[in-house]
Amino acid sequence: MSGAGQRAGGCLCGAVRIAAAADPAVQACHCVQCQRWTGGGPLLSVRVHDLQITGQDCIGTYHASTWGERAFCKICGSTLYWRMQGKPVAYVALGLFDDQSAFAVREEIFTDHRPGWLPPWAGASQSTEAEEIAKLKSHLAGDAS
Ligand SMILES: [Zn+2]
Ligand SMILES: [Zn+2]
Repeated sequence: MSGAGQRAGGCLCGAVRIAAAADPAVQACHCVQCQRWTGGGPLLSVRVHDLQITGQDCIGTYHASTWGERAFCKICGSTLYWRMQGKPVAYVALGLFDDQSAFAVREEIFTDHRPGWLPPWAGASQSTEAEEIAKLKSHLAGDAS
């Protein structure tokens, strides 16, 4: 399977359920914020469109930076998604999806923060913090979605 596919998933306790058109390409973010947030290793996430959420009342958000928003389940603490504040596109945590058969890690970012115990994924593109910050700055300047 290739291209965006409709996927369903949810948090550990089931209070939050999601459905979205998900990109099969998984992004691994090795930044220190993601390491802390996920409790170990990178944030593995997929870019989604048309994110539908059931259980919105149970979602808490945390702004670890001035541009990003991290969402979690207020009941069970599950990592849910990351997005640019005020933007519709979100990166949903891979582990939420009921069926993960179509996904593969294709991109690693903030690779200069990858812990020594974790080898790179074969076939995944690599970019450093400096490269990602440069992309973010041009993104914010252009205000593209
Ligand atoms: Zn939950
Ligand atoms: Zn990160």
